[in-house]
Amino acid sequence: MHVDVAVVGGGPAGAAAAITLARAGRHAALFDKATFPRDKCCGDGLTAGALRELESLGLDPAAVGSWRQVDDVVVRSPSGLEVTLPLPRGQGCFAAVARRVELDAALLDVARDAGVEIHDGHPVIGLAQDAERVTLTVEGVGTVTAPYVIAADGMWSPVRKLAGVAEAGYLGEWHAFRQYFEHVGPAAASRLYVWFEPDLLPGYAWSFPLPGDRANVGFGIARAGGKVERVQDMKKLWPDLLARPHIAGVLGAGARAEAPHKAWPIPARIDRAVRHEGRVLFAGDAVAADDVLTGEGIGQALLTGRLAAEAVVASGPDRPGEAIAAYDRAVDHHLLADHRMSALLQRALRHRKGARLAVWLAGLSPWTRRNFARWLFEDYPRAVVATPRRWRRAMFTGPGAFRAASRHESRQPTGPG
Ligand SMILES: Cc1cc2nc3c(=O)[nH]c(=O)nc-3n(C[C@H](O)[C@H](O)[C@H](O)COP(=O)(O)OP(=O)(O)OC[C@H]3O[C@@H](n4cnc5c(N)ncnc54)[C@H](O)[C@@H]3O)c2cc1C
Repeated sequence: MHVDVAVVGGGPAGAAAAITLARAGRHAALFDKATFPRDKCCGDGLTAGALRELESLGLDPAAVGSWRQVDDVVVRSPSGLEVTLPLPRGQGCFAAVARRVELDAALLDVARDAGVEIHDGHPVIGLAQDAERVTLTVEGVGTVTAPYVIAADGMWSPVRKLAGVAEAGYLGEWHAFRQYFEHVGPAAASRLYVWFEPDLLPGYAWSFPLPGDRANVGFGIARAGGKVERVQDMKKLWPDLLARPHIAGVLGAGARAEAPHKAWPIPARIDRAVRHEGRVLFAGDAVAADDVLTGEGIGQALLTGRLAAEAVVASGPDRPGEAIAAYDRAVDHHLLADHRMSALLQRALRHRKGARLAVWLAGLSPWTRRNFARWLFEDYPRAVVATPRRWRRAMFTGPGAFRAASRHESRQPTGPG
């Protein structure tokens, strides 16, 4: 099989790349080792940045059964100071939660409708490249040639290994646990909670609301410089965290785990990751694009997938040097300053004082509460203040995503208090 671009991985990065390519008239084939719908261990939280990308890709939230818009975020400092941060009402969606098993399958449906050839259940097991093309070996499909490959195959990126640019022993910057709960109380069912626990800093625990009195509950730790660094210690900590009165109180007495917990690493070093090798461009977790402050990576996966596709489309099949230079420029422009800002803030959050100060500042006034929530959920870039080249009109007052889909706002139950 010969295609214009072969995309490896059908998560948000691969789907965004494939949809962008198909819409630009390129013959794109996408390969994933999993058969969809497939789960991905994740908090399922969608930032404003992710929502805007999803909207422009043409995703309809109604196609995702577990879609839940979030209007209120509650942040708790290590000393117990709790601040409620309201997101703007009636102006579209600034934060949402959607189970990855449904979200990723719905995105692949968008890709299929756009004309992408999808081969799920077919792992890529071999790669070779010369000056003109990349040749993939795909189990159950055979040999696939293409001028470019976009590798969106996740944290462990087999393509990175096949291309010879994987770093031995790399385990990611974060490691995170998640577990689904049902029959949660009204607080967990309606609000998004972030708990800065003293023993997790600069990591945190969360409860993200899902429809039907369910919640995605979990916690993440920083691998280097955090207080809990070993995955074995995380396992022991999980029941202890769930029993802490402020967490147990939010989940409610009737909360029951739906399934065993899962854990997965989070790569967050876009400043150092190898972004391409020959005619292969890496995107999403495969290029370690996650936010080092929060561990969020869906928005960055959608963005880098799109940017890789745009670079390839603009450069054409015969100018790989231009394609990778364009991709580098775009990634630098969109992510580098924010990564540096996140790394700085993460350092401040390592200490109780830093985390306490951040929550206190966030709660100072209605203005700080509103804007901290929008900043935290990446309504505008993390380091926007330091990068005037990215300023645009109404960036602090613009609407959220899916403004027209008001039916999703109206079906939300009201929260407590
Ligand atoms: C516990 C946890 C909580 C998180 N919470 C959030 C959150 O709330 N919000 C947020 O924005 N981010 C969150 N993240 C990060 C987010 O999950 C990732 O950044 C995101 O999934 C990256 O998307 P991706 O498309 O790059 O990779 P993935 O979603 O991992 O997709 C990679 C795909 O590649 C496929 N693949 C792998 N090997 C092969 C192969 N050999 N051949 C073909 N296909 C292959 C896989 O099957 C998979 O479908 C969390 C992560 C963890 C671990």
